[in-house]
Amino acid sequence: MEAGAQLDGRRALITGGASGIGLATARELRRQGARVLIVDRREPPTDLEATWARADVGDPQAWERVAERARAELGGLDLAFLNAGVASARASIIEIDDAEYRRVMGSNADGVFYGVRALVPLLAPDGGGAIVATSSLAGLLAFSPDPVYTMAKHAVVGLVRALAKQLAEQSITINAVCPGVVDTPILTDSMRAGVVAEGFPLMQPSAIVAAVLALFQTSETGGAWVCQPGREPERYRHRGVPGPAGHERPPDVLSGI
Ligand code: NAP
Repeated sequence: MEAGAQLDGRRALITGGASGIGLATARELRRQGARVLIVDRREPPTDLEATWARADVGDPQAWERVAERARAELGGLDLAFLNAGVASARASIIEIDDAEYRRVMGSNADGVFYGVRALVPLLAPDGGGAIVATSSLAGLLAFSPDPVYTMAKHAVVGLVRALAKQLAEQSITINAVCPGVVDTPILTDSMRAGVVAEGFPLMQPSAIVAAVLALFQTSETGGAWVCQPGREPERYRHRGVPGPAGHERPPDVLSGI
């Protein structure tokens, strides 16, 4: 990823910015002089010096209010980090009731869809900008302990890839970060202990912050970027699908970036 413009004075919106990866990103953006609007159902720490919109990212009407605040208080947006999410940790399909399914899809998938839809009109008029959405390794592999989370995070990757072409026409990049295991409050004790017991390191949120800031400043778009301990973020290469018999590829009309 190449570096680009500085972040000083940029206007950034961060969902899930009251905790974990979102909070660490907000702190670094503030340190680099960006103006930050946090969207979270929790109040961010007061020393952050950011504006806070209390909202459920899975509620489309809440997004209308959030967009209005971004317009009124920041005069628009340059950067959006659609990062709020929850885990389920319920593996059994017959034990996932409707409320749990909606809770996990609402935060992880609906929150990204409604966020992009609400924020593109704020990014585009000022010459474009950058959107980063938080997926997960669970957006690229089969995470059996949490199938609904896996479904939601795959949805994020699909949406990002499918939108890249149309948003490029408005000078907006969109990428997904796909972190491995990061030491934040979302982790259950058993997940944390299990990873450590297998001898794998946990990442600190700062590792994901670096990836997000690089994605805010790159011209690459439509990527799902794997973040693993000790490695540079790496764009995941989907291998493609075969075309009909006699064709190497499917029709161009079915493909994006
Ligand atoms: P975190 O510390 O729990 O932070 C998530 C924040 O988002 C919390 O403040 C949470 O509030 C908020 N939030 C969740 N759903 C919301 C909703 N519907 N509306 C408004 N706010 C909401 O967890 P994190 O690890 O930083 O997670 C950030 C993102 O990274 C998530 O999308 C997560 O799936 C993803 N991720 C994390 C890891 C990891 O290992 N930590 C790995 C891969 C991907 P509550 O506390 O009230 O829920």
